[in-house]
Amino acid sequence: MATGDLAEFERLLAELRRDLEATVATDDARLDAIRSARSDANDDDEHDPEGATLSAEWSRAEGLHEGAVRELEEVAHAEQRLRDGRYGVCEGCGRGIPPERLRIRPAARFCVACAALRT
Ligand SMILES: [Zn+2]
Repeated sequence: MATGDLAEFERLLAELRRDLEATVATDDARLDAIRSARSDANDDDEHDPEGATLSAEWSRAEGLHEGAVRELEEVAHAEQRLRDGRYGVCEGCGRGIPPERLRIRPAARFCVACAALRT
């Protein structure tokens, strides 16, 4: 891959990392807020409507949080490959991942064909 392209993807990964870190920080704050709201609520009563709302809110926030944390790991992995000179090489078949795909998913580890095989 050309050096100019690598610089572009390095920048895209840095932007993605910044966004994800902001998401994780926001989610952490939200989870903290729900945690304290829940401990104020009556723990014994699962039929308490407020408790149910808080549980649903918790699951949602936790899901988002886990998704962002996983994506951050993918970004770290991609940054490592960038340093190793293996960025943009499919981990499945060893062929180059098309730059168009990497622009949409800078942390992609597989080409479209290999990604399809894995899902
Ligand atoms: Zn592949």
